[in-house]
Amino acid sequence: MSDAPLPVVFFGHGSPMIALETNATTETWSAMGASIGKPKAILCVSAHWLTRGVGVTAMPAPRTIHDFGASFPRALFEVQYPAPGSAALAARVAEVLAPTPVVQDQAWGLDHGTWSVLCKAYPDADVPVVQLSMDATQPPAWHYEMGRRLAPLRDEGVLIVGSGNIVHNLPAMDWGARLRPAYDWAAAFNGFIKTAIAEDAPERAVNFEAFGEAAAKSVPTPDHYWPLLYVLGARRPGDRAVFAPDHIEHGSLSMTSVMLDSRPAAA
Ligand code: ZN
Repeated sequence: MSDAPLPVVFFGHGSPMIALETNATTETWSAMGASIGKPKAILCVSAHWLTRGVGVTAMPAPRTIHDFGASFPRALFEVQYPAPGSAALAARVAEVLAPTPVVQDQAWGLDHGTWSVLCKAYPDADVPVVQLSMDATQPPAWHYEMGRRLAPLRDEGVLIVGSGNIVHNLPAMDWGARLRPAYDWAAAFNGFIKTAIAEDAPERAVNFEAFGEAAAKSVPTPDHYWPLLYVLGARRPGDRAVFAPDHIEHGSLSMTSVMLDSRPAAA
């Protein structure tokens, strides 16, 4: 692997059912993993691990957590993503996030925010994976700052990943029509954030609530939005933004994913 810093990736992760599917979205994620190559380790910030304070998984063999309702099919509960953990990376994360205390966690594992995308991007599950929790008591600017502190890991062979959704409004979702047009407010907010990313104006993404009602509807709770702020925090000047996949499902679930990449564009 060259010495160039690794890209940073935000995945719009959608329903966990995607783990059982092969479609244009999963093929795009697979191609992204292939284009990046296997990093030394992956650090994932998932929408599904909120804590008071900050934790990082430090166990040697994180379990696959099936953190969704019993209405999902048995096959989804049988999915395993047996990637090893990395106590060394967990310790390094605590170093770079200092002076913020980071608990070396032995109880969590890999939740579906992590494995439902990594099972497509890195299907061999042979790259060590560490999850970082998000302190639910902190404001958006704090989460962005955490991402900024993580950025040096890009030079150490660590792929930083955020997994959530720019637009995530479950009550509004039209479950019967996956590819229906997005609600106007969902399309408007998704576009606003994409433009902020394309123009490298992270302050607009941090202060997303200023976008008004469309922001409030798109981000009714911040858990799925915050992982994007870690990814933007780890961005460096000159990183190109590559959006793919880039669409909204069920009217109000954004699958928009973005890779921030300093490598030259493919010919
Ligand atoms: Zn989710």
